[in-house]
Amino acid sequence: MLRGFSHLPPESGLQSVHLLLRDEKGYAIKESIEVKLKWRCRHCDEKRGDVITSYEYQNGKQFRVSYWNNPCGHRDDRKTVFIEAYTNGMNQDLKYKIGQVIENY
Ligand SMILES: [Zn+2]
Repeated sequence: MLRGFSHLPPESGLQSVHLLLRDEKGYAIKESIEVKLKWRCRHCDEKRGDVITSYEYQNGKQFRVSYWNNPCGHRDDRKTVFIEAYTNGMNQDLKYKIGQVIENY
């Protein structure tokens, strides 16, 4: 595992993370997308945790994926992260793909 990185400056309060898009059944990885999120907990507004970048492998391809744990203890579950990415106005170019994921929940 690599320590997470971001091309966004920390003072921006934003973080880019990689999320996996899977098929309708939730098994096969279709692609990894990079989305921008405001790096604050949705519940208490504390700073979210450090991002860990990992890789998942499928059919000889590697897909980057981000993980984090929030120091405040509130968890960011997958669905709410996708909804946040869809609605925060910073991922317009990916809205169609993210919308498809949300529909499948
Ligand atoms: Zn919190």
